[in-house]
This record gives sequence, C-alpha cells and structure tokens, in this order.
Amino acid sequence: MLPIFGCPDSMRVQKINTMLEKSIRKCNPRPALRTLLCLLLLFVTMPAAFADISGIYPQVHSLFPTADRFGETEGTPPAAPVYQNNQLIGYAFLTGDMVRIPAYSGQPINVLVGIDTSGRIMGARIVHHEEPILAAGVSEERLAKYVDQYRGKPTSGRIIVGGQREGYATVDAISGATITIMVVNATITRAVRMVAESRGIQSAETGAQPTTSITATMREPISSLPKTSAKTAPRPVSKTTSPPSPPTTNAALSHTPLTAAPAPALPIFASETDDEEPLWVILWSQRKLEIALLLTGLILLTNILLFQDYLARHPLLLVRVRLGFLIYTLFFIGWYGLGQLSIINVLTFMKAVMHQFSWDTFLIDPMLFLLWSFVAVTLLLWGRGVYCGWLCPFGALQELTFKLARKLKLPYFDIPHMVHERLLALKVVILLALFGLSLQSMSWAIKAAEIEPFKTAITLRFQREWGYIAFALGIIALAAFNRKFYCKYICPLGAALIIPGRFHTFEWLRRRKECGKPCQVCAVECEVQAIRPTGEIVINECHHCLDCQVTYYNNRKCSPLVEKRKRRERLKGPDPDKGSDEPVASSGLEDIPISVKPVDKTT
Ligand code: SF4
Ligand code: SF4
Repeated sequence: MLPIFGCPDSMRVQKINTMLEKSIRKCNPRPALRTLLCLLLLFVTMPAAFADISGIYPQVHSLFPTADRFGETEGTPPAAPVYQNNQLIGYAFLTGDMVRIPAYSGQPINVLVGIDTSGRIMGARIVHHEEPILAAGVSEERLAKYVDQYRGKPTSGRIIVGGQREGYATVDAISGATITIMVVNATITRAVRMVAESRGIQSAETGAQPTTSITATMREPISSLPKTSAKTAPRPVSKTTSPPSPPTTNAALSHTPLTAAPAPALPIFASETDDEEPLWVILWSQRKLEIALLLTGLILLTNILLFQDYLARHPLLLVRVRLGFLIYTLFFIGWYGLGQLSIINVLTFMKAVMHQFSWDTFLIDPMLFLLWSFVAVTLLLWGRGVYCGWLCPFGALQELTFKLARKLKLPYFDIPHMVHERLLALKVVILLALFGLSLQSMSWAIKAAEIEPFKTAITLRFQREWGYIAFALGIIALAAFNRKFYCKYICPLGAALIIPGRFHTFEWLRRRKECGKPCQVCAVECEVQAIRPTGEIVINECHHCLDCQVTYYNNRKCSPLVEKRKRRERLKGPDPDKGSDEPVASSGLEDIPISVKPVDKTT
C-alpha cells in the first residue's frame, strides 16, 4: 500500500484510511455495497498493520539478521527502533527523510541504513536513485557492493572514499562514478550522525585512533548540521534497487575490489568538515589541481582563438598546437577528469529549469561546471565549433583517429553534398526524440542516450559489456574513413549546441569574395563539410579546426592569392600579400588529392 501512495510514513497511511472511512459513511451506500467497501477497506488497510519499516523495506532484515521486531518510524530525525528479545539493538531509517543532497542526476539518492546502539553502521541498501552514470555503465551490483562497505563503520561520520587517513574509516571508490559515490558517502555519513546524535549513541572507534575532535563532534547539536542537508523531506520510492544480501564480513568487504581496472587517482573525500559547507565546496577544494589544469587549458584555448589568424599564417605551429591540445582534451579532460559533456547534462538542466532549479546540482562536479560555463560563453561568441573542435574528448578521439588514418594512408570516403545535407537532419531528429522521451521518463531518455558512445569510450574507458564497446569502436572506426562522421550526423549533443550557437556574435573565420564563386578549394578541403559550394561557412556545422583559414592565407592554395603571386612572379616583384609559403599540413590534408572541380550549386 505504501509504495502505491508513495508515502514512507505509516501515520500517513492511517490518515488515508480514516479519510476513506469517512468517505464511505458520507456516501451512505446500501448494506451490501457497504460490506463490499468495508472488505475493500480492510484489504487496503491490512498492510498498514505491517507498516513498520520491515514491511515496506524487507531489506532491513539483512541489516539486522538477529532482530525479531521493528518499531514504527518516529522521532526527529525519523528512525525506526529495532529490537531483539524486547531489547533495543539499533535503528533503521531512510536517508531521504533527513538528507537530500542532489547527485549527478540532480536528484538525491535514498539509502536505507541501520545503526546499532554501540555506534556502528549495521549496513546500507540503496532503495532509490536516478543516477545516469549507474543506469549507463556501473551495475547495480557494484553499487550495492559499494554501500555494503559501510557495514561496521563508526557512526561518527569519519569515513573517506579512497585513500587512508588516520582516524578515518575507508571505503573503496567505484571508477567512473565519483560524483555519485561522493554523494552517497555524504548522504550516509550525515544521516547516520544525525540519527546517532539524536538518540544519544556514542560512535564506535575506527580501526585507527580517533582524534579528540570526534568527541567534540559527537556533542554538536543537530542544528549545526548544514542547512541544505537537514531537510526532512520524505519522497516516493519508486524503484527498489538493492535486493537483500546476506551479511558479509567487514574484512572481506574492505578488500573487495570494486574497479575492473586500476582506479584513477581519485581524490580523497572526507566528510568530517562538511558540517559548515555544502558538498560542492568540499569537492571543489579537493580538486584544486584538476581545476587549475582545466583553467589553464581554457585560457590557452582562449588565446588560440584570439590569435587564430597568426596561427593560420603559421600552419606548422598550428598543427602542433592543435595536436597538443587534442591530446590534452582526450587524456586530461576526458579520461582523467571525466569532463565529457553529454546530452544527459542538457536534459537534466532542462528538467531542473522546468521543475526546481538548484545550483548545487550543477556545482557538484567542478570539471563539468567550468566546461559548461566556458562552452556557454563560446557558444554565444563563436558557435558550437569551439567545443566540438577543441574541447570534446570524444571529438578529439575521432580527430586523432582521423589523423592517424591519414598517416597510414587509409582510404577516405567523401559523402556527396546532397546526401550530406539530408543526413544533417538526423542528429536533430535524435535530439528531439531524446527530449520527448525525457519529458515522459528520464530513465528512458538516459537509456536511449546510449546513442552517445561517450560513456563507453571516455567515462568508462572501454570497461563495459562488449556490445557497448563494439558500438563505440565502430563509431571511432567510421571517423577514420570519414572525418567526424558521428559528429556530423548522429551526435544529439552537437545538435543541442547548434540551437544557442545560432545566436553567436562573431564571424572570425575569414572568406574572400571569390570563395565559392568560382573557387572551391576550401569547400573541398573541409572534410567536416561545413562550407557550402556557394562559399559560405555553415557555422552550425563548423568545428573551428582552422584548416580553411590556413588555406585562406596560403598563396600556393588559395586561388586568388595564387593568381596574385603568379602575376607578381611574372613581373618579378615581391609578394605584397605576404602569404604563407609553409606547406599545409593540418589534419593530413596534404594526403588528400584536392581538385578544384565545378560543384552543382543547386545542391
Ligand atoms: S558533435 Fe558531439 S561528439 Fe562531436 S565534437 Fe561535438 S559534442 Fe563531441
Ligand atoms: S575547415 Fe573551416 S569551415 Fe571547415 S570545419 Fe574547419 S574551420 Fe570550419
């Protein structure tokens, strides 16, 4: 009954039953009908008799295997007493009743937790979450194993994720789900402390010696807990994600490897100092190095954009700068910092704007927040090209694959312009479909967003089921034979970036009046096919690679400059345009035969 009404509180059930009784009396139905309604009422009411926490969440039995009775959820913060032989042995409670920290999805994670009267956590079971990273790549079993590590940990809240620190208990991280597990850790530790303090339970000690501040912390009143986390806000539980599991020994759990491969250098996240600060502040302060490196990269990219004309006149320098930046994007932003933006971010943002917007949701990952902020500005200034051409880790992976393929002299397949123009609409259709799905169900949209190979290739570094890996590798292989095939025709994020990019302010990519009329050099060279046969650059499709700008300044490739140079040479005069004589080597164009051929402009 409770899940039907979405109410975790048995008092509410009783209220509902009282309301039903009153309604039946008011209707004054005939005796037979009244009997039928009463039977129905009895049927509906019956579960309320078992409305203790064990009736709603049978998983609680696995937290307290020796318990013979669970009381009603009561008190502030709400918790259900647990008995054995009429002796109080602990409390069971839902973190959602007291701590609601927005996670990656923007929604809090609800965890069923048990603590005993000696100040130890009896275990934890996740009962509801909407985390896309978990739906997409990290299995529920891994998440269940992760929270199982809290069994036996002290209720002091001194628990860190990854690493070792004196006076702290440690839980192992899950690779690729840093934000989610950080939120789970903060949620559990804060809720556990709140319940333990309110019931006068002294925390057990960790394996290491606790510091003196633990005692002080235990004496702090609940009101000292952060405002954002101390909300009492029960919410419907629609998904049971963690089945009951048999008790496991603490030692075994603490040594259970949760990552399929060596975990990256995950930062150490402690929860002891978070009493005064929101979680995002702690996360930002603990990722200072990553933030500094990201800001350095963004400043460098800003300078590349500001001095793009200089770079275009020095093609070899541009090639090196661009290659270095793409490697930085792939390895640092993508594989190390997990800063791959996704259409899921866009859908989450739109959902938040439509429902309840909270900065906390977006600040929780500094890499994503800074990247999105930078992208928002560059979209309005230059369009989508800055992100797609320079900052997207999966885009960088495709570019590097394309360059390697040119070095290996693999064949290149061009797509006729008419077909290309038709195919461009495909990514917009995919975007609209995902948006429509997200309005109906975010979890459906998240599953459908698997059309993005980002999670497989970047976030999870190819540590997934073979089907996902094959899909991602197939997309990357396509990029070897047709530059950024996925970006041009499939990527829903690229399509989403087009919309604000339409309002860009600057047109810094230079064109000549001869471009397209009749010269087709740039249009043929641009493998992203962002230059129309008529000569204009379609900014919505441009990836700001600057290849066409190199040609623009090259007096051996750009037709008007070639004409001028030849005229000067015939007159044996100096070249007034001072165009670049350096060979064009960006993106392997030198390996592709370029012909200036007439193009059907009607297409
Ligand atoms: S189109 Fe998509 S995959 Fe390609 S660079 Fe842009 S965001 Fe990345
Ligand atoms: S060649 Fe020019 S038009 Fe084409 S993607 Fe690069 S910058 Fe944009």
